[in-house]
Amino acid sequence: MDLLLKGGWVVTQERVEQADIAVEGEKIAAIGPDLEARAAAVRDVTGKYILPGAIDVHVHYQMPIGELLTADDWFTGTRLAACGGVTTVIDYAEPAGPAEPLTEALAKRLEEAREQACVDYGLHQVVLPGQEEDTGELAKVIEQGVTSFKVFTTYNQRLGYAAIGRLLKQARRLGALVTVHCEDHDLVTARRRELEATGQTDPAYHANSRPAAAEVKAIEEVILQAAAAGAPVYIVHVSTGGGAELIAAARARGQQVFGETCPHYLLLTEERYAGPDSRLFLMCPPLRTVEDNRILWQHLASGDLQVVATDHCSYSPEQKAAGTAFYNTPSGVPGTETLLPLLYSYGVRQGRLTLPQIVRVLATNPARLFGLYPRKGCLAPGSDADLVVFDPSQEVILKASDLHSAAAYTIFEGFALQGYVEATYLRGRLIYDLGRFLGRAGQGEFIPGKITVL
Ligand SMILES: [Zn+2]
Repeated sequence: MDLLLKGGWVVTQERVEQADIAVEGEKIAAIGPDLEARAAAVRDVTGKYILPGAIDVHVHYQMPIGELLTADDWFTGTRLAACGGVTTVIDYAEPAGPAEPLTEALAKRLEEAREQACVDYGLHQVVLPGQEEDTGELAKVIEQGVTSFKVFTTYNQRLGYAAIGRLLKQARRLGALVTVHCEDHDLVTARRRELEATGQTDPAYHANSRPAAAEVKAIEEVILQAAAAGAPVYIVHVSTGGGAELIAAARARGQQVFGETCPHYLLLTEERYAGPDSRLFLMCPPLRTVEDNRILWQHLASGDLQVVATDHCSYSPEQKAAGTAFYNTPSGVPGTETLLPLLYSYGVRQGRLTLPQIVRVLATNPARLFGLYPRKGCLAPGSDADLVVFDPSQEVILKASDLHSAAAYTIFEGFALQGYVEATYLRGRLIYDLGRFLGRAGQGEFIPGKITVL
């Protein structure tokens, strides 16, 4: 036996129980009380929780937008993930334009990640207008282990609702899951024109410029398309209570609609745009209201939203400062490193979620939805030994200077946390311990997604 974690509280999606975990090579070998294993390394984890490594299924590392590149690349992005107890991330392979074949975009992205990644990773395939018709290319990326597609209802990459319907039909046939960024393009465009006409273009108007109604409208349209196609669909970064309620209602009708939200939509509000640092909080969709926060927590607890991910897309304050208006300020915020600690403190400690629920929304559900289960997302013999030692007694005030993003700021500066990640193991290897990153570039592996029947 290579490693024994002794005396901790093992947290699975079902329960919390005191047990030891034995690791052999890269896999969990056994879980049980008082394991009598002779191990090369024994770690006393009395009083600590052992959770499966978190999976952040929505990150953007080294992402170009025009001339601009995100602050975190594959190395710093996956390093900060390790420091936050995240052992698998899912990023995106996006063609440079509709003429670039999906397989080429995918090959380039895999090549970028290969020598830099410090944790395991998967990819979603972005599908641009017209590419939803190319059955051959869609099938090829699935064969290569990319079993989820991403489309937008807004931006230049947008597909119309009918085109999303066509992709949903292809995906159903091929066994892939379509994930959608939902903001209605016409509503967003109309509001932008109104604001421009009255000179209200400062980043302070960001929330106003992308109204809740735009998200709700797009989610409604996409749910209708999914119903017509008989396909499952996954809505990324749900920011509104109204959107979450549409997902819950569709599920109650028996439709397979899945929803993701992010810590910032649970914990922050649009008041942040009133301050001098509005640009640092600018992401799409924007922050909403306290009432939206409340409804999102409620739907996470009920299981109608299944995943919390971060949409980690980091820009430094200097990059952000280049923005003169809400529409030209780099959009996105860092988040992966604080995902698990925030969910524990503000979810579990504040009585909104249980520990097993945290495991479900951060590990089990993401692994199941994106075809990584049971290799990832659970603590069981035979699964990868992706383990987080979490110390519930550690009190932390979040400070950017203690975090590892190249963006060098956090939207959660000053947040008080009760409990923090003590150590992270990736496939049995210690990659983070007591504040120190111990991993190395290139040790993260591409984990192909399997086709899963949801
Ligand atoms: Zn995103």
